[in-house]
Amino acid sequence: MASITFLGGAGTVTGSKYLVESTGARLLVDCGMFQGLKELRERNWQDPPFDPKSLDAVVITHAHIDHTGYLPRLVAMGYSRPIYCSRGTSDLVKILLPDAGRLQEEEADYRNRHNLTKHDPALPLYTERDARAAIDLLKPVPNDGNPVEVANGVRASFRIAGHILGSSLVLLELDGAGDDQKGRRILFSGDLGHYDQPIIRDPVAPPACDYLLVESTYGDRLHDPEDPKDALERIIKDAIKRNGAVLIPAFAVGRTQEIVYLIRELEEENRIPVLPVRVDSPMAAAATQAYGNRKEEQDEDYASVLAHRVYPLRTRNMLTASSRDESKKLNDERGTRIIISASGMMTGGRVLHHAQRILPDEHATIVFVGYQAAGTTGRRILNGEKEVKIYGQWVPVRCHIERIGGFSAHADWKEILRWLAPLQSTPPRKTFLTHGEEESAAAMAEHIKESLGWNVEVPEYGEKDELK
Ligand SMILES: [Zn+2]
Repeated sequence: MASITFLGGAGTVTGSKYLVESTGARLLVDCGMFQGLKELRERNWQDPPFDPKSLDAVVITHAHIDHTGYLPRLVAMGYSRPIYCSRGTSDLVKILLPDAGRLQEEEADYRNRHNLTKHDPALPLYTERDARAAIDLLKPVPNDGNPVEVANGVRASFRIAGHILGSSLVLLELDGAGDDQKGRRILFSGDLGHYDQPIIRDPVAPPACDYLLVESTYGDRLHDPEDPKDALERIIKDAIKRNGAVLIPAFAVGRTQEIVYLIRELEEENRIPVLPVRVDSPMAAAATQAYGNRKEEQDEDYASVLAHRVYPLRTRNMLTASSRDESKKLNDERGTRIIISASGMMTGGRVLHHAQRILPDEHATIVFVGYQAAGTTGRRILNGEKEVKIYGQWVPVRCHIERIGGFSAHADWKEILRWLAPLQSTPPRKTFLTHGEEESAAAMAEHIKESLGWNVEVPEYGEKDELK
């Protein structure tokens, strides 16, 4: 007997967590934190419906917090076995998790100091120390498709998913599983990359499998046909006319590097003047280094830029603010400049301090370059709300609001179908649509039924399915 239980990433894009049980083994694939709506965030505080000590292994598809942010909590609850992931993922998890712990501590502290808490005192979900304990359990493996034994009778193999550095499809092979006890293969797409995005390689073709979990973030959408580089050029030129600042909320990992890469190209092609680019994130420098180090994941364009002795991830007038003092100095700058800061959905981090100054300024521009989940400050601004609450204070929104759709690190529905195509001759017994809000998951299910005629399902939160 084998089963899968959907403990996150079901009906939402956050909290990815899939419990896989097979004869003699129990493991968790992804261990993400819920973000966005309060009702979702509260799930982070509920005990999981399994004993963390009973898990044999944890396997991670990629480093984003919605896939890894619950690891420190799991470890604090007694999990002490290995956490398998690709080498690129391991590099990034080491950067992201301690920061997530620090952020939790800082926010609890802030709430306590400003009496913003109903809980007395407000506690962090976990600490930086818990995060470091989780990092000690990381077991990086190559993402070359070769299987690694991760638990008794369970092998995992990792292949490039093209979403961020290290992001992987994970194929689990469960010995003896299924009604005929011949074993079953489950493929987890993780987050699937957008084809032809800069820096990293495209997603590789999916291997044959019995069960498939495929993400559906953009299951009901197609990417904006405007090329992100053209959009960036247009927005920057408009900002120069107004002599206004440009604030780009962006994940420090992945999106920040991608934006810097494109601004460098625009400068080199003389499409924009050289402007101050300020990357205000303590993590960005470390993440940029990780992108530079993992040659096995860089695409051909990246390699050819390097061959001309140009560093692909730097513009001509760029500063990276790591310390708080460096960050504060950025407040004194005036005129057109580009500030890139995390978090990408404005759920926390330094971007909020910049937003307090940028949002009320009618000459300034805020540019959204990634998915904004329901309930986040980013989504509220995109929805046209005239005031948003930041650190307990209402801030008026008077600046220009721009969105670059084509920037997504996620495949849209046509790209997902393109990725699935190689499985047409050997379709999975069942395909589960995960990692999408309700409408997008449902839409993706329809697209797959219509184009491929497969057996598809949109699982609910907490649902358990037998792998027959
Ligand atoms: Zn992701």
